[in-house]
Amino acid sequence: LAEVSPTPAPAAAAAGNGGDDAVVLVSLYAKQQKIQPRSVSGWFQNWRWALVWVTQLVFYGLPWLEWNARQAVLFDLGARRFYIFGLVLYPQDFIYLTALLLISAYALFLFTAVAGRLWCGYACPQTVYSEIFMWIERRFEGDRVARIKLDAGPWSFNRIWRKSGKQLVWVVLALWTGITFVGYFTPIRTLIGSATQFGLGPWEWFWVLFYGLATYGNAGFLREQVCKYMCPYARFQSAMFDRDTLVVSYDAERGDPRGTRGRKIDHRKAGLGDCIDCDLCVQVCPTGIDIRNGLQYECIGCAACIDVCNTVMDKMHYPRGLIRYATQNGLARHLTRGQMLRQVFRPRVVIYTSILALVLAGLVTSVALRDPFRVDVVRDRATLARIVDEGRVENVYRLQVMNATEQEQHYRVGVSGLPGIEVAGGDELTVGPAQARWFTVAVRLDPASARRSGPGAHAIVFRTERLATSAGGRSAVTQEKSTFMIPR
Ligand code: SF4
Ligand code: SF4
Repeated sequence: LAEVSPTPAPAAAAAGNGGDDAVVLVSLYAKQQKIQPRSVSGWFQNWRWALVWVTQLVFYGLPWLEWNARQAVLFDLGARRFYIFGLVLYPQDFIYLTALLLISAYALFLFTAVAGRLWCGYACPQTVYSEIFMWIERRFEGDRVARIKLDAGPWSFNRIWRKSGKQLVWVVLALWTGITFVGYFTPIRTLIGSATQFGLGPWEWFWVLFYGLATYGNAGFLREQVCKYMCPYARFQSAMFDRDTLVVSYDAERGDPRGTRGRKIDHRKAGLGDCIDCDLCVQVCPTGIDIRNGLQYECIGCAACIDVCNTVMDKMHYPRGLIRYATQNGLARHLTRGQMLRQVFRPRVVIYTSILALVLAGLVTSVALRDPFRVDVVRDRATLARIVDEGRVENVYRLQVMNATEQEQHYRVGVSGLPGIEVAGGDELTVGPAQARWFTVAVRLDPASARRSGPGAHAIVFRTERLATSAGGRSAVTQEKSTFMIPR
């Protein structure tokens, strides 16, 4: 019925960050208090907006890029073909996806071990879309105080038009996000053409609305609750943290005792620390926590509290950095920034970096040396073997040739493994750009060789060569094993 919130974290208390060991009971049925974060400006906020721009330009822009007269990035599930600029991938190339997942996982481990929730604070779609949705909200309803006042007031014309204007822009943006998402799987120009004529298929409608609704709901309403209650990363991140991880920290030794004061008084003489207890760090926090209580799992590491506290310190003519990126060891042992940064190179960071570099190098090498075509050989199951002209033994196979380039290619098929074995009829195959074609290939063995080899299954090898005469191609060879049956 209730969950025990670790607020404030014991780790913070141990680090002397001013936390106590109180346990807060939070009813899972308690009504969520709406958080109205105050806008903030500063170095970290600029970084976050830079990343919002970069990630969104990539996300919304990529489907519109053209490459070789088709969409540059397209995951064509129907045709089972994935295009990433000049790269044509088949479902058989799924190993690359595994490598990408490994790279993402180790990058996350590495960044978290070095500087906490960098991903959450700057690049996670939840943060990025919440930031965009809050920006729109501020354009219609104003900053924190104006929004609180608006929410508390009656449903006047002013309130109705501001709320409905915001909702309208949110819905349009969410739908556009849904269309863009589906545009990675269906050519976006065709998709938009169909959407404007209400001609989308049921699955396209479903995914546009589903993704749009997820964006609208997560960024417009759920916001910090996604980070606090739905995201598993918040729960297991502590396994990647240690006392040398840089995290957003309040310097309790410097800030406490807290208290309001005039700008001109000598607060040290008055027995006060640098924290003027203005509460701005709480007001800007998108998850509504007080970082002065120490490290908490709800903290997404957005550093908004650092930016706002620095502006307060500037106004008070105190040094910046009362809230800053620091390590628990750094705060406890009064390490300088240089000393804390030197602790970055510790065993777990070196291990994560090495694994990441290895997987990355493996992926790049594998893609660079990737065969420009792939051949699958399947025996014809209808006839194991048969005797044809002049007593020759014939086996029939089906060859699937997948052309992973964007030019038409010509191939020659050969077979080896038994003396005198050969491909019957034509041995040249042609496959169009980024196409996969099936060919029926008959392989024959003369009667004398068949007698010498004896009845049974014999290992053979199909050798497929891409002819150098193909457009844009050096010659390349691939070999596939199979068996040749000789009847009794
Ligand atoms: S913003 Fe800085 S000075 Fe103001 S309450 Fe927070 S820590 Fe104290
Ligand atoms: S405590 Fe600071 S860094 Fe953490 S979520 Fe709140 S504002 Fe962001």
